[in-house]
Amino acid sequence: MHAAENRDPADQKPAPGSLLTRVPGRARPQKEALQEFEKAVAELRQQYEPVFWPLFVPEAKEMFRWRVELECGCTHEVFTHGEDKYPDDRSNLDPITRRRLPVGEYWCPTEHGPIQKPYRDIVEWVDRKIMEFPADPEEPEYDWMDVEIWAKIRKPGPHLSAFWRVKLACGHYDQVCTDVDWKPEDGPKIVSEERISEIRRDFEESWAAADNTGWPEKGSERDHIRKMIDLRWPRPEPERDCFACTQVGRITGYQRIGWLVSKTSPAPASSPGIDRKKIEARLAAAEAEVQRLRKQLDNPNDA
Ligand SMILES: [Zn+2]
Ligand SMILES: [Zn+2]
Repeated sequence: MHAAENRDPADQKPAPGSLLTRVPGRARPQKEALQEFEKAVAELRQQYEPVFWPLFVPEAKEMFRWRVELECGCTHEVFTHGEDKYPDDRSNLDPITRRRLPVGEYWCPTEHGPIQKPYRDIVEWVDRKIMEFPADPEEPEYDWMDVEIWAKIRKPGPHLSAFWRVKLACGHYDQVCTDVDWKPEDGPKIVSEERISEIRRDFEESWAAADNTGWPEKGSERDHIRKMIDLRWPRPEPERDCFACTQVGRITGYQRIGWLVSKTSPAPASSPGIDRKKIEARLAAAEAEVQRLRKQLDNPNDA
């Protein structure tokens, strides 16, 4: 067993500042960057009560601008809390799951064209949410679905499903649906030898058809089906296709641009001379409010 192979991707961190380089291209005008920042801040202020702003809403004058290059070749501008806080120092956000990405990765907003999502082993069943669904409709839910197949899988009454948040081997998070009574320690359910022979035959026949349009098409999807057949069709499946893997890029280099608000020019009107004492007092008030809300959540009747 090699330690390096078992290392969580979140732990693979280059030395601070080791990726400083010259990033090709030019920085956009400072005014444009500030406008975008203020727009994002205005949205955050809408999301949170003012008492939480010191915790969740960054201040323009604390922000340092960087140009960052990713392994996909794209360059983007990012902000950090200072000229010695490097863009790969801490983990960035996955905007879909709102979970942190492994350190050194960045969600590239560029559209890279269709890419098949790679399958990754599920390494942790983190937590779950139970959701209730009404009875399925009598007619198939999808146009392409066979009526007989629908009759077999249709749930005639209201039913519950569990949605598990799972951590994948790549360090990303995704969601997997299971039966409510399933627990990770049970391991996956598998089908009989007889049933798996039928499933294998059905897929092989559809893939061997002359026009070869059988689902799923060649590539990682079909490889995944073959693997599941070899494992006797486990439910839940031990792997999941990872959307984040098609969207994130490792940060390959970064270059300083400068402070978002020039240190010599006066601070913008939105943050008039806030000193440390004031921020600390606001932080204490916010923390007290969090405590109070937590208590209220724990003891809803005492509110
Ligand atoms: Zn990109
Ligand atoms: Zn991934």
